[in-house]
Amino acid sequence: MSTSSNTPSNNLRSICVFCGSSAGDSPIFRTASLELADILGNAQISLVYGGAHIGLMGAVADRVLEKNGRVIGVIPQSLVDVEVAHDGLTELHVTDGMHQRKAKMADESDAFIALPGGLGTLEELFEVLTWAQLGYHTKPIGLLNVDGYYDDLLRFLDNSAARGFMRQSHRDLLHVASNAAELFDLLQNAKPLQDKKL
Ligand code: AMP
Repeated sequence: MSTSSNTPSNNLRSICVFCGSSAGDSPIFRTASLELADILGNAQISLVYGGAHIGLMGAVADRVLEKNGRVIGVIPQSLVDVEVAHDGLTELHVTDGMHQRKAKMADESDAFIALPGGLGTLEELFEVLTWAQLGYHTKPIGLLNVDGYYDDLLRFLDNSAARGFMRQSHRDLLHVASNAAELFDLLQNAKPLQDKKL
């Protein structure tokens, strides 16, 4: 059966969002995060995230809930108090540790998006990217480059490919846009990697 070129190739029913447990130094980060939350809520796409009620994490979750969307939080027991586990989610899964948390978040999701964040966000993003280059999963991965926050990181990745430490096709696993609507479109139409490492 042929499909129209306007038909997205990926049917994304749940998206895992990695983002800061802080809000950053400008309201622009929160605004961009809420734009993504609006897209998820309006399209009735479930949000899977780290279950916290602080920083951009809490802002995205609250907004999807306001839209009557489904929000699945996954948080390790050790962070329930530190990151103030959100008590109003559709589902909150408390795990024994960080590894279980990330595995559960990945299992529950059809795609991944990283918003601005710190070390935790970077670690989560690079884990799903490295899993993708190995062919452990074929779920699309996006980076919302709000206000140029990730410009230096993207330059670093381009340099890594240019210097022979990363295949260009693996660099291209990371879909990048500066606004949520464009990024969502990229992920809906992303094609799975052809040359996995394994
Ligand atoms: P951050 O970007 O540092 O504000 O953290 C965002 C989220 O990533 C928080 O919920 C952290 O608990 C989580 N996170 C996931 N893996 C790690 C890790 N290895 N180290 C620190 N934070 C992590």
